[in-house]
Amino acid sequence: MLNKEKEFSKVILCEYLLSMEGEDGKVKQNQMIVIEKNKIQFVGPVSNPLPKAKEVIRLNNHLVCPGLINTHTHLPMVLFRGLGDHLTLKGWLEEIIFPLEKKMINPDFIRVGTELALLELIKNGITTVCDMYFHTPVMAEVFESYGLRGLLAVDMLSSFSDWKEDLDSLCNQYGKENQRVYPAIACHAPYTCEPDLLKLSAEESEKRKIPIAIHVAETEWEVSEIKKRYGKTPVAHLKDCGVIGPHCVFVHCVHLSEDDINIMAETNTPLSYNPESNMKLSSGVAPILKALEKGIVVGMGTDGAASNNDLNLFTEMDTGAKLQKLKNPDKTIEAKDIFSMVTSSAAKVLGLSHRIGKIQTGFFADIIALDLNHPNLYPRNNLLNHLVYSASGREVDFLMCHGKVLMKDSEIQGVDEFRIYAEAELMRKTFFQ
Ligand SMILES: [Zn+2]
Repeated sequence: MLNKEKEFSKVILCEYLLSMEGEDGKVKQNQMIVIEKNKIQFVGPVSNPLPKAKEVIRLNNHLVCPGLINTHTHLPMVLFRGLGDHLTLKGWLEEIIFPLEKKMINPDFIRVGTELALLELIKNGITTVCDMYFHTPVMAEVFESYGLRGLLAVDMLSSFSDWKEDLDSLCNQYGKENQRVYPAIACHAPYTCEPDLLKLSAEESEKRKIPIAIHVAETEWEVSEIKKRYGKTPVAHLKDCGVIGPHCVFVHCVHLSEDDINIMAETNTPLSYNPESNMKLSSGVAPILKALEKGIVVGMGTDGAASNNDLNLFTEMDTGAKLQKLKNPDKTIEAKDIFSMVTSSAAKVLGLSHRIGKIQTGFFADIIALDLNHPNLYPRNNLLNHLVYSASGREVDFLMCHGKVLMKDSEIQGVDEFRIYAEAELMRKTFFQ
């Protein structure tokens, strides 16, 4: 029961609410969310009188839902958007991305790229990401100033900064209860990380109690290369190196054998499904329905914007669902299961299911709202299906993270967008000089 005398921070009045509380995809009408500081205190029917609050936010003609969770990305790579779009993964990395990274990566590049990416995330309703990139403490500062939530994974292979220093700095400053930045470890892939480095990553993850994110079985080339080197599949190899389990986010998993799927299921290793990146780099179609049948937890990711080319989970849901239907014409996948891949299941992938991914009492107040007055959302036959198959992201005009409103009436609060666009333009002019 709510304390009638207490004055809460905020009450949000929702004409339509999809809380994901029961993970059943049900949209309820005339609901209210009561928030105190960064946490949700109550979710239920609107009361009369309303609870006392410093601020009442009325979201009429909106669909309110949990902030979306992007389980895999490389945010500063937004600055490489549109480069090498004709290439597949190996050529794209070796001809374009690796040489550019060698030339361009420094703290200023990371700051500008992260700022540009956060604008895009907010506008697309994303409140949490799991990121793998370089100069992670610089990224953490930008996350702090914008107010978004991020698992920021320090790259163990980075030649741009010392992984141990970066990890120590993040672990000392962040990852505590009620903070929005969580440290993590990034291993690029089984073909770039030697077994000793993978074993060391597993030890560091265990010692520091933080997750590991790694690209796994992304291409056929990777699977044959790892078989050639170690005589086993990438998943079996990672298991032998100790990089397996509920704290390891296996990204892509396009080319999994039956045994690989069984190993991931037995060890509760979650999977990050990145359909648009896998299509664009001609990598293939991940066996998501098989993984779900075996009980593997699946979340969605956009991957970096350079291989997508945007940070938009609405288009990712649409594409990811259709791709599975194309590959599995005799099976069905429901919109609620797709939507959970960007909310409640995505939270499980990142080990944060007790705090985010649902609008529920005790959870952090990470909330978005879509303006329903867009032609692609009429008639309202099924709002959940519209979210997955019709919404484009531009309908999101309200975003709250950790109890703080970061976007209202489509305006990002306290940020000069044009300053960031100008900096991004200046930066790209130096790429090929
Ligand atoms: Zn990636």
